[in-house]
Amino acid sequence: MLHFIAVTAPIIYTLTIMTLIDTHCHLYSEEFTEDIDMVIQKAEAVGVKKFYLPAIDSTAIDTMIALEERYPGRCIAMMGLHPCYVKGNYVDELQIVAGWLAKRKFAAIGEIGLDYYWDRSFIKEQEAAFRVQMEWAIQYNLPIVIHTRNAMQETINMVKEYSGRGLRGIFHCFGGSIESAQEIIKAGFYLGIGGVLTYKKAGLASVLEEVDLEHMVLETDAPYLTPVPFRGKRNESSYLKYIIEKLAEVKKVPVEEVAAVTTANAEKIFGA
Ligand SMILES: [Zn+2]
Repeated sequence: MLHFIAVTAPIIYTLTIMTLIDTHCHLYSEEFTEDIDMVIQKAEAVGVKKFYLPAIDSTAIDTMIALEERYPGRCIAMMGLHPCYVKGNYVDELQIVAGWLAKRKFAAIGEIGLDYYWDRSFIKEQEAAFRVQMEWAIQYNLPIVIHTRNAMQETINMVKEYSGRGLRGIFHCFGGSIESAQEIIKAGFYLGIGGVLTYKKAGLASVLEEVDLEHMVLETDAPYLTPVPFRGKRNESSYLKYIIEKLAEVKKVPVEEVAAVTTANAEKIFGA
């Protein structure tokens, strides 16, 4: 016998709080020393639950790790040597990176890559540093977070040599063409989407119209690359709100969907 029971559903007013991950933010930099607790609070109020901190060079490691200790499980450090900091002493710098990698676990090796924009005098060294750090990522089974500027194709070509061996990760601050996006995705990598999406001139919106959300993660790169409407001011993780709103508009889906997909992607990459 079937009983049909009328159930009166209680009316529940749920406040939809999205869960977001800032996959790339330099919250340990001196721009935040005055008000870091407020910056984290503001970000958490809009749903940011994790903050991934990319390394730069040896001078910034202590403050990065101090921030991680202040916010365990929320601020999570990476380790690596940024291409703009590959100089004459890069072998010593890499030795410090290697020492840390052997000592404890990090979320990723980053940010690493090639930057032909600021200074071309250490291009050979940048490539060597990138290579060895990709080898370490494979050795430690860690994702990489890539910085590339004026060197997109060179970076993609180098990454391809390693992706067949299981190397994975993020092209941070992606601002390339649809062809580059397709090559990156084919190599199994994700696109880090940040404030550049809100800059009209960058033309990134029309590229991302043709890219599935399955291949994207969100980032601020705070304190840099501040999204509209705060462009020109210091960037911070709560501004992820403006990036996600713009991405939802571009993809013509609700912000909740952008949040769910990109957060799942980030968790997959970092193994959270
Ligand atoms: Zn960065």
